Amino acid sequence: MKRAALIGDPVSHSLSPVMHNAAFAAMGIEAAYELWPTSPADLQVRIQAIHAGDILGVNVTVPHKQAVIPLCDDLSETARRIGAVNTLVLRAGRITGDNTDAYGFSRTFDAVLTGPVPGTALILGAGGAARAVAVALVDAGVRSVTITNRTRSRADALVETLRGAGVPGIDVIDWNDLLGTVGDAALLVNATSIGWHGDEIPVAPVVLDALDPASVVIDLTYRETALLRAVRERGIVATDGLPMLIHQGARSLELWTGLRPPVDVMTRAVVDEQARRST
Ligand code: NDP
Repeated sequence: MKRAALIGDPVSHSLSPVMHNAAFAAMGIEAAYELWPTSPADLQVRIQAIHAGDILGVNVTVPHKQAVIPLCDDLSETARRIGAVNTLVLRAGRITGDNTDAYGFSRTFDAVLTGPVPGTALILGAGGAARAVAVALVDAGVRSVTITNRTRSRADALVETLRGAGVPGIDVIDWNDLLGTVGDAALLVNATSIGWHGDEIPVAPVVLDALDPASVVIDLTYRETALLRAVRERGIVATDGLPMLIHQGARSLELWTGLRPPVDVMTRAVVDEQARRST
């Protein structure tokens, strides 16, 4: 029996065990996906223990996606460019840090777009998810990618490190200047952690009023958020982060096993679990 796991803090809410265990069953792989809550102080010991043999693969989430980098033996080119790791692949006793969030986002982006690649995108947030989204958008050919964050210095630092990793062309605007800029965005991505609780929303209604009605909104939160409801009321096409969750998980599974993941089975498992939790 092999084990896979999610390292983060907190992890108890995660849908990954349901999603991956359904996939293991469908693929005939004898493995169980576990949750390993890990504080920052325990991260190094946790990663060292991964060398223990029966581990199929590991995912990493908040707050460790950047802190885990120096603990990896190698980094994939994708993880190096993004500057964050969400997947650990074990080969011949070495741990390679990879990132499947950008892949997951690009699948979501492809599914929601009906026309050509948008020329302009605005990302709210500057954490690990925003890094992956920015790289995915640049790679998809979005000409102008702009980031804004409540803490401006974090957005500046993000753009600086992406530039250093060979990802140019990303601008930063002040959070307070959103109102004057949001109308230029053909795509708006919520990559803040706002949206998980009740009706919380990352931006004021007046900012949403300024959105181009032809724009598209992607909220990385995988629930029906107040942001999604508000933009749909304005006639704007919008989607949540559930496809990103599923595709990043599927890509991790493919990296661990070399096998084609059962995306339909994973989707059904996650949707059923969400329905179960909401009742
Ligand atoms: P981080 O903790 O790294 O970043 C959080 C971001 O949210 C920061 O930019 C932070 O700004 C911002 N933020 C927090 N509170 C507020 C607030 N009150 N007002 C405005 N901005 C705020 O998280 P991640 O980047 O890893 O994740 C961001 C979101 O994306 C989470 O909701 C996560 O669940 C989701 N996600 C979804 C995935 C999917 O598969 N669908 C994959 C990965 C992430 P500041 O710097 O100022 O604190």
